[in-house]
Amino acid sequence: MSCELKAKDRTGVINPIFTCQPAGAQYVSIGVKDCIGIVHGGQGCVMFVRLLISQHLKESFEIASSSVHEDGAVFGALDRVEQAVDVLLMRYPHVKVIPIITTCSTEVIGDDVDGVVRKLNEGLLKEKYAGREVHLIPIHTPSFVGSMISGYDVTVRDFVKYFATKSEPNGKLNLITGWANPGDVTALKHLLAEMEVDATVLFEIEDFDSPLMPYGNTVSHGNTTIEDLTGTANACGTLALNRYEGGKAARYLEEKFEIPTIIGPSPIGIRNTDTFLQNVKNLTGKAIPESLVRERGVALDALTDLVHMFLADKKVAIYGSPDLVIGLAEFCLDLEMKPVLLLLGDDNAGYEKDPRIDALRQNVVHDMEIITNADLWEMEKRITQDGLKLDLILGHSKGRFTAIDNQIPMVRVGFPTYDRAGLWRHPVVGYAGAIWLAEQMANALFTDMEYKKNKEWLLNVW
Ligand code: SF4
Repeated sequence: MSCELKAKDRTGVINPIFTCQPAGAQYVSIGVKDCIGIVHGGQGCVMFVRLLISQHLKESFEIASSSVHEDGAVFGALDRVEQAVDVLLMRYPHVKVIPIITTCSTEVIGDDVDGVVRKLNEGLLKEKYAGREVHLIPIHTPSFVGSMISGYDVTVRDFVKYFATKSEPNGKLNLITGWANPGDVTALKHLLAEMEVDATVLFEIEDFDSPLMPYGNTVSHGNTTIEDLTGTANACGTLALNRYEGGKAARYLEEKFEIPTIIGPSPIGIRNTDTFLQNVKNLTGKAIPESLVRERGVALDALTDLVHMFLADKKVAIYGSPDLVIGLAEFCLDLEMKPVLLLLGDDNAGYEKDPRIDALRQNVVHDMEIITNADLWEMEKRITQDGLKLDLILGHSKGRFTAIDNQIPMVRVGFPTYDRAGLWRHPVVGYAGAIWLAEQMANALFTDMEYKKNKEWLLNVW
């Protein structure tokens, strides 16, 4: 029995788990109010990412492209950035923040985005937009290193680095959620409200669960303001829930402004939510109220109904964002399940030193593989060629055909989940998330029992 961490031993990728760095930058950008990002690259770098995010959230929002063409790819395309900034400012009078997000092509041709930002600050903004508050932020996200996860991490850091300004302490807690759904943000705000904690929830997209109003439809936007970002330097503490999606910004605030900082764990499952609340308490001095003890009790009761009879010993494969995958694996272990295969879709060197992965390697008592730089073929090959028997798959919609073709129950979780309704509304974090996840897993197994006539009668008597 062993738990092994190893890299995929194949070059090339078949059915990738992640997309590229600029996607992470775009997801961060949509969490900022009065902000529209310009992706400096070919139009597809926006078109496909925006489609993916729209499919996932079922909402419309705005991101621009500098739309680099052949001439730009050969001779440089900084003039496209200058034009794009001008057009964006003319077209959208409310826009104040414009991250300029690089891509593989513009990094390879060596476009000096920092230089063009200086030029625009000294020229266009002073001459044509004098008196208007405009912030141009270069974001370097070449797609030939890292993944959408590191792109998210770098972008959060660069936004915070740009705006954070030391002044008077504001007594607020910085909460960096990482790549979350609107439902997660709502659940986190609820926990903080119960503890009476005043928090700045950064890059939050709660309003992407947008209403259709009588006076017309609107595009969705995030709610993190310039003032929120500026004030991050004056907080009483920073809590970054995800090590790989926001950890860099948290470390920056700690080093530069000496703000007490805790990174992780993602509050997935009971024990990680307990730790989250304890961390909030440690950073703010606020007590954990009886109402949350009760919520915890309700969650424990719900899980107790399912664990021994249905979830115990079920073999699970999990893929997706590293903090999510590790959090889900820990939760599955607490539910007496057997996560046998974890797929992390990039090659972040930090995985080797991650204490949570280390704990899995030390403590897991069944055979488990953790594959880095993984693709979905790693899972499919084990099922179709190596005889891996799975009871359940947890992951985003891109792995659906492996589940369908091999008749393995699947719970959609992570990003993107476009083939099931309303998943963005349901949190996976907090006690509510623990209940929702466990019940989704149980219901997926129940449906499978019914279709395969596998002890289906059990459902009549539990
Ligand atoms: S891989 Fe390169 S070209 Fe493709 S979407 Fe990402 S940045 Fe754009």
